[in-house]
Amino acid sequence: MLGVGTLLHRYPALQSLSVSIQDPSRLDDRKPSENSPSESCAPSEQPPARWFGFNQGACSVLVLLGLTALFASRIREIDVASSQTADLRRELPSQVGEWKGEWIFYCQSEKCMRSFPESELDGTRTCPSCGGILDQVSLGERNLLPPDSIITRRMYQNEEGKHITVTIVLSGNEQRSIHRPQQCLPAQGFSIDQSSVLTVPLTGRSPLQLMLIHAQKGPIQMLMGYWFAGGGHETHDHFRRMAYMAWDNLIHGIRPRWAYVSLQTSASTNEKISTQRLADFVRELYPLLKPVAPTPQ
Ligand SMILES: [Zn+2]
Repeated sequence: MLGVGTLLHRYPALQSLSVSIQDPSRLDDRKPSENSPSESCAPSEQPPARWFGFNQGACSVLVLLGLTALFASRIREIDVASSQTADLRRELPSQVGEWKGEWIFYCQSEKCMRSFPESELDGTRTCPSCGGILDQVSLGERNLLPPDSIITRRMYQNEEGKHITVTIVLSGNEQRSIHRPQQCLPAQGFSIDQSSVLTVPLTGRSPLQLMLIHAQKGPIQMLMGYWFAGGGHETHDHFRRMAYMAWDNLIHGIRPRWAYVSLQTSASTNEKISTQRLADFVRELYPLLKPVAPTPQ
């Protein structure tokens, strides 16, 4: 069975797996009113039946106008760039327990688009295949994502030769840096066989929940786990993230950066083994991602 790390290099088109294609539904770009928590506007006493439809419609319009005005007045105060960095460090550690990490470099030539782990480059930053410029963000990701998105990726390997690739995408102003893997994977020819919630116990806090996806495309069997973090919230659920974003926008007038943390590994024949591998890895990685508290003066 081929490892995902190997496959990413063998099939450059897979490079954009972990950031996913633009969500066609553009949920992030919905109007504020569509994103807002539902509001009820029940009258205190039962109105005459003929007025009920009118009053209900008028009430809805007023609520929508109110929310739109509220959003319009507050949106000016929102500044992603000055907000916290999605509650996570921007860099990935070089080592996670027994796992050693290395950067991946992508050729920026459209005709090549190959990728190389750092260890294959001997310190050079030009493509060994075509001589093109190498960068830590793939050309596909660069073309796809808003320029203020921040992408960090490392491929980790243990002594058994197993690989786990970790990607953190930090959203920019447009928020569309982060998309649902459930839509991007099928768009890239993967079928998602199963999805479930993986609960990872953590020391000193409540367990972390990840969305776990098993996907396949031909001989490639992939296990992917992910969660979102931002504005003091943490969730494995895309729609819950949208609700948090709408709440923070409308009620608090802020738009925190969100992080999308994803992990990919090859799925073993015995899926329990690969699931356990991801869970053990996350347990060690998670504390290393938390920002260091500022030293009191
Ligand atoms: Zn090249």
